[in-house]
Amino acid sequence: MENNLLNIPHENGDLVDIDIGEIIDEFLEEEARPKRVGVYFPSEIGMCIRRSYYSYGLPKPTERSALRIFALGNSVHSFIAEALKASKEFSTVEEEKPIKIQHNGPDGSFSIYGRIDDYVVTKAGSKKIIIEAKSVGDINRVEKPEMKHVMQIMLYLAAQEADYGILVYADKKNLEIRQFRVDYDDGLYRKVMSRFEELDSHLKRKKLPRAEYYFDADKVWECKYCPYFQDCMQAIADDE
Ligand code: SF4
Repeated sequence: MENNLLNIPHENGDLVDIDIGEIIDEFLEEEARPKRVGVYFPSEIGMCIRRSYYSYGLPKPTERSALRIFALGNSVHSFIAEALKASKEFSTVEEEKPIKIQHNGPDGSFSIYGRIDDYVVTKAGSKKIIIEAKSVGDINRVEKPEMKHVMQIMLYLAAQEADYGILVYADKKNLEIRQFRVDYDDGLYRKVMSRFEELDSHLKRKKLPRAEYYFDADKVWECKYCPYFQDCMQAIADDE
């Protein structure tokens, strides 16, 4: 029998309908914090720079279905963290370790805040390793790490002393794992920071950046899923 509502006594004595799905959605929406110009996050810099720009000036509520998928991903991450903590291989396991990069450039200052999923130190050899976990729908499609994830872990490797990073992809259906070692690469780190500089500069000047993905044959397919598709297409048409 399907019944989404439950009669529960309210503190004023009345019976009220409780919808657990609604409660989950409210909690997830509360968690989605508003963005501020000058404060950036490692997970956003691998996306289309124009899409990222729009998300500051034209915030759109994340679709409920997407929020639930994020929450499912978080539970996969928590499970991986529990497994790491239970392992005898590590002397230290820190979950959700915060990092900050303060950038003071000729064109202005900004801060990047992030949280390393897991920071571990091995018992043998005292290797310090940054672990970033990503949940995926089908692990068989993961043949190499995605560049946006490599960019994200590069920032962590720059901010936190470590020997190397590991990108761990976990299949949401069965927790099958594929993992990739990522070493610090100064050239890539600078490239990532120059993307932040570009985003910051456009946001501070209120100037729309290039429609990066639309003009990239390998990435244009992502425009279909972009919440700013209409705004972006209008801006491209106005420019022509
Ligand atoms: S529609 Fe495409 S090019 Fe435009 S903002 Fe979205 S992802 Fe970027």
